[in-house]
Amino acid sequence: MNPLKGIISVPRRTMVAFALVAVLMGLAIVGQSYLIVDIVDRIFLKEADFKSILPMMWLLLGLLLLRVATTYWNGRLGAKTAADIKQELREKLLAKYTRTPVASAISGQSGEKVSVLLDAVDEMDSYYSQYLPKVVQTTIVPLMVLVVAFSYDLYTGLIMMITAPFIPLFYIIIGIMTQKRADAQLEKMTAFSGKFLDTLQGITTLKLFGRARREEQAIEASSHAFRDATLAVLKIAFLSSLMLEFISMLSMGLIALEVSLRLILFQSITFFPAFLMLVIAPEYYLALKEMGAAFHTGRGSVAAAKRIASELSAEERTVAFGKLELEADGPPEIRLDDVSFTYGESFALRDIEMKIRPYEKVALIGKSGAGKSTVLQLLAGLADPLSGEVRIDGRKRHDYAEASWFKRLSYISQHPYLYAGTLADNIAIGDLRTSSRAEIEEAGRRAGLAELASTLPEGYDTLIGEGGRGLSGGEKQRVALARAFLKQPDIILFDEPTTGLDVRTERLLREAMEELGRRATVVTVAHRLHTVRKVDQIFLLDAGSLIDAGTHEELLGRSEAYREMTKVGGGVAK
Ligand code: ADP
Ligand code: MG
Repeated sequence: MNPLKGIISVPRRTMVAFALVAVLMGLAIVGQSYLIVDIVDRIFLKEADFKSILPMMWLLLGLLLLRVATTYWNGRLGAKTAADIKQELREKLLAKYTRTPVASAISGQSGEKVSVLLDAVDEMDSYYSQYLPKVVQTTIVPLMVLVVAFSYDLYTGLIMMITAPFIPLFYIIIGIMTQKRADAQLEKMTAFSGKFLDTLQGITTLKLFGRARREEQAIEASSHAFRDATLAVLKIAFLSSLMLEFISMLSMGLIALEVSLRLILFQSITFFPAFLMLVIAPEYYLALKEMGAAFHTGRGSVAAAKRIASELSAEERTVAFGKLELEADGPPEIRLDDVSFTYGESFALRDIEMKIRPYEKVALIGKSGAGKSTVLQLLAGLADPLSGEVRIDGRKRHDYAEASWFKRLSYISQHPYLYAGTLADNIAIGDLRTSSRAEIEEAGRRAGLAELASTLPEGYDTLIGEGGRGLSGGEKQRVALARAFLKQPDIILFDEPTTGLDVRTERLLREAMEELGRRATVVTVAHRLHTVRKVDQIFLLDAGSLIDAGTHEELLGRSEAYREMTKVGGGVAK
């Protein structure tokens, strides 16, 4: 029943606690019934005086309180278990998403991810907070009641035993029926929230292209589908609780009939056991019905659990790192040794060979989609090759500790990430302790941010990133450059902006890169002729393969593809 088996488990201690609480509850229920019957028996049949039963009344009160307390404990324990497990699941999902930053950020709707993280995990709540404790409780309590029934009246015990399987049997059938609906419901919800978020993120684009109206209709259709799926599940749930009620009423009626016939007609049973049977029978069926109800709540979670399980077990592309420290004396030599990589069916890098010597300036060029950014990510250690090796000074990259590698590296992607904070925070990336304000501003100045800072209302203290002032793509890259100036890395990986730079910004970026490159190896995904003219090596990529490598002059001389590329409007890629 639990698809998360093997992924997450409830601690044994918790299960024991559930069982203990259930036994206490069973004792309270049985004791309470027994006392009620005994008190009635004494007062009405044995005509005992009130004083003699007073202690029993106190005991009864105590048992009633115990019953309330066990219900409370059961709920509390369930809620706590659910909270712990949900946190563990969220941590696992988060860890999984952050272990595969490049792959998971790009593949799949981000709205869907949010949905798995929040909604599907929340759906698991009822499994642990209600289903699990109830299942323990409703197996133990009826068993205890059954023992009492058998020891006082064989026939009632038999009726209880024979009718009991109908209830679980019934909800197994119902369960199978609802399973598909619950799956469908969850699927609709995931689709709905995914659609919603992705539409929101793309709203400007949609507006620009006059598609907003169509998306609105799509969202409406998606929300209606979700509503219908929810109602279908509810319908079955209501129907099934009616049927469960019916079965238990019928069984209790049967017991009442049997007991009263034997009490009045055949006089083969005395008042005490007969009354006791009538009092405990409802408790018995109540427990079984609760199990049925819990079962339904549990079913809903199974669909969610499957979703989480599949997300967690989805193929992972972890990036391997080892323990070795990278010695820090200038840039290392970097080699791609017969490296292959794939994003699944759609795209594959094949047999990439590259050797980048210390302080070299290298350009990666090729058409859009050729795999340039992917090579950069492999070099950065943000993705691991499928086969082949990335070698640093001759050693496998994953022999080195992650931190010692990333410390030496600046990776300036086309869309650098800004987090919510001030411009200064973003330059120092949380490293405000080690960098002085003067250093931060100097790095900003070198990266060409001085002018921007002077136009911002609070200069370097202006809030940018999420929730703050938005920056343009070029400005973001300059923030990333400023980070590099502060870090003074040995290796700089730079994904040049494709378009939309004015001449001045272009010059700024170029000068900044030149300055940074004085003490570092620089690998640039290049789109501009001036970038490739001066570099030591140009790697020409096409559809995932390295088709040529050399200097500008060499390639001009021998590569038709290169001449083709450099000819068009001064750019080297489209
Ligand atoms: P370039 O930078 O040369 O334009 P990329 O390296 O970004 O090319 O991408 C190469 C190919 O791989 C493209 O077809 C792109 O759509 C695909 N791709 C890139 N990233 C992913 C990803 N995370 N998942 C699936 N496909 C991807
Ligand atoms: Mg790219």
